Amino acid sequence: MNGEAAISTIDQERGLLWEICRKIWSQPELAFREYKACKLLVETLKTAGFRVETGAGGVPTAIKASWGGGKPVIGLLGEYDALPGLSQKAVPYKESAEPGYGSGHGCGHNLMASATLGAALGIKAEMEKRKLRGTIVYYGCPAEEVLTGKVFMARGGAFEGLDCAISFHPNVLNRVTKGTGLALNSVKFHFTGISAHAGREPHNGRSALDAVELANVGANYLREHVPADVRIHYIICEGGVAPNIVPDKASVWYYVRSRQREDVEAVYRRLVKIAEGAAMMTETKMNIEFLGGCYSRLNNGVLCDLIHQCMEEVPQEPWAEEENEFARAINETVPGERLEIVRKYSLDADAQMHTGVLPIMREDGFGSTDVADVTHIVPGISFGTACEPLGVSMHSWQVTAAAGHSLGFKGAIYAAKCMALWATKLMEAPEMIQAAWDEFNEATKGKPYVCPIPPEVLVPQM
Ligand SMILES: [Zn+2]
Repeated sequence: MNGEAAISTIDQERGLLWEICRKIWSQPELAFREYKACKLLVETLKTAGFRVETGAGGVPTAIKASWGGGKPVIGLLGEYDALPGLSQKAVPYKESAEPGYGSGHGCGHNLMASATLGAALGIKAEMEKRKLRGTIVYYGCPAEEVLTGKVFMARGGAFEGLDCAISFHPNVLNRVTKGTGLALNSVKFHFTGISAHAGREPHNGRSALDAVELANVGANYLREHVPADVRIHYIICEGGVAPNIVPDKASVWYYVRSRQREDVEAVYRRLVKIAEGAAMMTETKMNIEFLGGCYSRLNNGVLCDLIHQCMEEVPQEPWAEEENEFARAINETVPGERLEIVRKYSLDADAQMHTGVLPIMREDGFGSTDVADVTHIVPGISFGTACEPLGVSMHSWQVTAAAGHSLGFKGAIYAAKCMALWATKLMEAPEMIQAAWDEFNEATKGKPYVCPIPPEVLVPQM
């Protein structure tokens, strides 16, 4: 069977892939600081014979590792950044792995790093055995959690020359959706006022916190007059130090999201006016720190159909008794959510982990990902495999626990095999890549990708 060499290589490399998966999981690194994960992957890829470039696209912790030659050039998108505050042991009850407010892999990006590496090794083996022509490119993509890693990489030209790209993300279900998510802009407004004694001479003070609050009032009125799919959310990052001092510094951090990049930009421009108005009302100064933005995902239908076919072809390993028990204990912490998923997708009433593959659906989500930007540069897709108990939601301690456990890893191995089969099938069928490009050109109407991050915004150096 075609794909046999890829699948058996991934099985043989399980020990190495588990080690990488666990190492990245047990030393979680936040966005743009993934130095240990980057080093580990670079060394492994070099040993495997890949031509490795670090700092791809101008991002210090990004990797571009290639093997093979000529067309098609297929990109595999791995990630490895963690989330703040989600430190957790690989146990089915809440217990932080680190005292205090430690980070954790609450989105399972350690599984992505490992699965994508497994896919790259598998494809290489299959190409060698069957003398397939083409180039595989493993991308180590930092800082997905702040939604700008791949966007900076794109600005630096890291994805140029690809024929198509794939990204796997841990999920509660084995599925591929042709739906999309939300495009986004991330911005901080910093206000500077005049400090004064809040009791004795408030008339001499100009409150930066007032400016933040008035900006938020304005934004909350704006909500009524934007397209229905727009999301606006904020946190106050700085709001003064004591009530008896008029705050001379205050900051607010906004996300603006929408299905369409154009709508994000339009609402963003109005939000900037609101912040300017707040500064005017309070006689403070306002400074904009634009952190970045991304597109909404354009999942390519041709490539979706192919990965779905591969997901059905690759055998799934059964969940072990211990894994089902682990999942049951986690699901018991979110019982309503598990039942909701079971009902929505007509699953086995007692299922704790998903088995099988859902039919392809067109379900639009409300999250954002910087994978989206790659899908506006070349035909690309993102798909999910079951790595987590059915009831859990992303960015939670439950996901951190699953991502460090054998059940998460099992889902990642399955994903690695699916990606490997997908890539080798594409290498044998250039007409499929052409069809993917025809669809891509039709969808984008020839409009070139414009990076949402302007050249003057520097890559964060941590
Ligand atoms: Zn994620």
